[in-house]
Amino acid sequence: MSDAPARRLRQLGDVPVSQLRHVGEKRLAALASLGIDNVFDLLTVYPRRYLDRTKRVDLSDLNVGDEAAVYGEVEKVSSRRTRQGRVMVEVTVSGDGESLKVVFFNQAWRERQLTLGVQALFFGKVSDYKGQRQMTNPVVDVIVGASGEERDASKVGRVVAIYPASGKAGLTSWEMGGFIEESLRRAGPLFDPLSSLERDALDLVDRTQAYWGIHLPSDLDDPPRARRRLAFDEFLRLQLLLALRRQRLEASSAGIRHPFNVNDLDAAPGELVAPTSSLVRRFLAGHRYALTGAQRRVLEEIARDMSSSLPMHRLLQGDVGSGKTMVALAAMLASLDGGRQSVLMAPTEVLAEQHLASLRRDLEGLTVTDDAVLDGSRPLSVQLLTGRVRAREHLGVLEGLVSGSIDVVVGTHALLNDEVRFKSLGLIVIDEQHRFGVEQRAALRDQGRTRSNEGADPDLLVMTATPIPRTAAMVIFGDLDVSVVDEMPEGRRPIVTTWAKSEEEVNDCWRRVREEVAAKRRAYVICPLVEDSERVEATSAVEERTRLALHELRGLSVGLLHGQMKSAEKEEVMKQFRAGDLDVLVATVVIEVGVDVPEASVVVIEDAWRFGLAQLHQLRGRVGRSEQQSYCYLLGTPPSEEGEKRLAALVASNDGFELAEIDLEMRGEGTLLGARQKGRSDLKLAKLKSDEDLLLSAQRLAVAIVQDNDGTLVDMVDELRLFVDDDEATYLFKS
Ligand code: ADP
Ligand code: MG
Repeated sequence: MSDAPARRLRQLGDVPVSQLRHVGEKRLAALASLGIDNVFDLLTVYPRRYLDRTKRVDLSDLNVGDEAAVYGEVEKVSSRRTRQGRVMVEVTVSGDGESLKVVFFNQAWRERQLTLGVQALFFGKVSDYKGQRQMTNPVVDVIVGASGEERDASKVGRVVAIYPASGKAGLTSWEMGGFIEESLRRAGPLFDPLSSLERDALDLVDRTQAYWGIHLPSDLDDPPRARRRLAFDEFLRLQLLLALRRQRLEASSAGIRHPFNVNDLDAAPGELVAPTSSLVRRFLAGHRYALTGAQRRVLEEIARDMSSSLPMHRLLQGDVGSGKTMVALAAMLASLDGGRQSVLMAPTEVLAEQHLASLRRDLEGLTVTDDAVLDGSRPLSVQLLTGRVRAREHLGVLEGLVSGSIDVVVGTHALLNDEVRFKSLGLIVIDEQHRFGVEQRAALRDQGRTRSNEGADPDLLVMTATPIPRTAAMVIFGDLDVSVVDEMPEGRRPIVTTWAKSEEEVNDCWRRVREEVAAKRRAYVICPLVEDSERVEATSAVEERTRLALHELRGLSVGLLHGQMKSAEKEEVMKQFRAGDLDVLVATVVIEVGVDVPEASVVVIEDAWRFGLAQLHQLRGRVGRSEQQSYCYLLGTPPSEEGEKRLAALVASNDGFELAEIDLEMRGEGTLLGARQKGRSDLKLAKLKSDEDLLLSAQRLAVAIVQDNDGTLVDMVDELRLFVDDDEATYLFKS
């Protein structure tokens, strides 16, 4: 075996688990139900914790109040009903000649799980019940099942890996460990794509050591070192995919050189400009306010991209209210300066309508040259394309885009329909998105080219809805360049956020709403989130509006906005609220992203704990959009510590980037990356926050590997095939 060539991960992926000694039909099915088909899958099931057999807690040392992990064998099980009618399962666990009572409430199935002879780890707090030590509802890891298992206990080291409980599949940690151990032993040495030089430079152990160290550690120092290497590999593969994607894009792309002159960004409001000046200059000179320093810096980055022959592929990050729209607008004008059209895509109709209105207002008076009209110039034309635009208008917009009489089109996903064609598309802006994956972006760009007579790739600017931590951006948007608007427009005051707990504080909240309305300002009341049911959510919003109009907010004009209303109704309500005909808008989360009514100065969020942190920050960001002092009130009592933490974080900070870090820490990477990443490319061990150094070095190495294009790339591509589907592999790996 020692002469055999070191084994590659992909080869492990080719070995079905059925080849393992003790895997029969039943276990095969159990493993399959956990998504484990081959030996590689098995090796990436990582232990949840370790049991140091030399340091087992002696039951006799266990004190009341201790948090402890106790290993023992089930000696007695029984169950009965308590007087309150709850099922109580009582288990007596013994070890080292001592015993401990463990009780479970409302977990009747424990009686079937913890049968006589089962050995398990019990994690929990030791309490005192009538003078006896006892654990109530502890976390349980079954190590050895009652049926007796084949794993040879004598071969197990002094540290035992505990695998995630898989009670449903009926596999014990012990069995899982047995399969993994057999796999590792039979696999022999593993091939390492990194040279020892590279490993030393990065302080990483080799791959064989890593897989052994995590699954079969000889002491507790092994797992952290092993984890570091395996996490690095996860990052490296991900960054390689992104780097390859980027390289492909660049190789296959033909960009547009837009005439975007950085000097035009110097134009200040009120400045005199010649009618022949660029649209960018004319716009800035005629606008209500000047660019902030951050907007200007970011626009310089964009100008550089847009005037280069490589297509722009840029992410624009900025906190809620930092003024991303104006940046997009200037970029769209630069595209128009070269005679090309732009697309602005928003996630909702409400937002698309708002963009249409504000673009029309901001661009009023600007003219473009057009040989198709008599005197060679006409007003700039901005049109809307959403699912609800009426057939005849719809047709008109489609025609205008093909003929070139429309300069900017604003819309929703309807813009992605096949029928939409352009005379000459120069720029695509996607607003308020962070759920737009790599694949969708690539598709959009391809469409941009094929649907426009330009025959070149339009530039792409993606704007995030909420800031995301830098590390997360590297993972989700690693194929994009990133610009950050890190400054708010001048004169903004931090929003005062209050978590109204007492009745008195809640009264203060409604009093504040009345005061602000009396001072000619406006308020939002956000209704509770109802998971998965827009209909129930809408009903409760209707009721809440009626209740408020009759009680707390009697005498004010209170409007309503929810997801079940027709588009035209929504639009009408927004118009009234904008105009000040409505004082208060009771709304569901349809209001969440992007809505901009600067006169709104209070937002009340009911049952605030139901919302995620990023969402809360977004909702709060509906106010604080002018120099007026604004207020945010959080109502409702969180039923969990999680919820309390979120609300406390929101009260403590107005900074979206800081909140994004906290959010990441609280929720873990799973939710963040969630739907975006398919297949096996999930990060299982790597942690975005604590492994930032690994991520950075993985990114550097990935770029170098793609550039060098030598044997290492070949080795890594072989490995990457484990993680991508066939289509993507064909696209990424064709030579
Ligand atoms: P977001 O980044 O959240 O999309 P918006 O683009 O909606 O923010 O801008 C928020 C508000 O700030 C808008 O009312 C906008 O008119 C205003 N604004 C944008 N840029 C500036 C600026 N440079 N100076 C003053 N106000 C600005
Ligand atoms: Mg916005």
